[in-house]
Amino acid sequence: MLNIEGLNVYYGAIHALKDIHLHVSEGEIVTLIGANGAGKSTLLRTLSGLIKPRTGIIHFQGMAVQGQSPRNITMKGLIHCPEGRRIFANMSVEENLELGGFLQRDQKELRSDIENVYSTFPILAERKKQMAGTLSGGEQQMLAIGRSLMARPKLLLLDEPSMGLAPLLVKEIFKVIQTINAAGTTVMLVEQNAHQALKIADRAYVLETGKVVIEGEASELADSDEIKLAYLGGH
Ligand code: ATP
Repeated sequence: MLNIEGLNVYYGAIHALKDIHLHVSEGEIVTLIGANGAGKSTLLRTLSGLIKPRTGIIHFQGMAVQGQSPRNITMKGLIHCPEGRRIFANMSVEENLELGGFLQRDQKELRSDIENVYSTFPILAERKKQMAGTLSGGEQQMLAIGRSLMARPKLLLLDEPSMGLAPLLVKEIFKVIQTINAAGTTVMLVEQNAHQALKIADRAYVLETGKVVIEGEASELADSDEIKLAYLGGH
């Protein structure tokens, strides 16, 4: 579904992504783990067209999308749910979801997509009229994911969905990611919470200073001493 070859991204003189090769097959959950500054968000921003790569190829469903506009990429079903819950604080929960469905012109379909989000996240249905800025951190994260679902992603790019959440909510978010995946959406998951991410992922890539240093089956990586030491606190 997604094939990245020889991707190089620069911020001025900073070489942020170095010759990245990576692929995601339909139906998978692939996780990208790595320390702060490794280049995880840069990779997602490049995939969604927010940053233009200097060199490299990004094939999404057989088409080269590198250098295309974020809008075109979104319309192909590659949807980015950014870090930090970029919701519209002064709009209601439901208005946020409507905005996420901006590609949908059929009002009936839009309503049915909103109802689908509510069945995935019942708490959002309870809070539909509430201003998004007054939701708790976990609820805002759910709204951010719900809004991405409104665009009917084929491949959903999730940037640190568990960031800043209490442990119980982290568990809930990971469960929801599995549900979304089981319903047919392929997922690329950027996480610092390597432990949980490796539990739900099929495969994983480890980024270090802009390079892929390890890749493999998530279960194998979770068992590897190198990963345990560097990313799982030695456990
Ligand atoms: P984190 O988990 O902290 O978000 P990350 O793995 O997502 O880290 P990136 O945010 O992709 O890392 O950053 C990769 C590198 O690129 C870092 O060295 C960062 O300082 C640099 N960088 C990111 N954005 C910019 C920018 N707009 N201008 C210059 N350098 C940047």
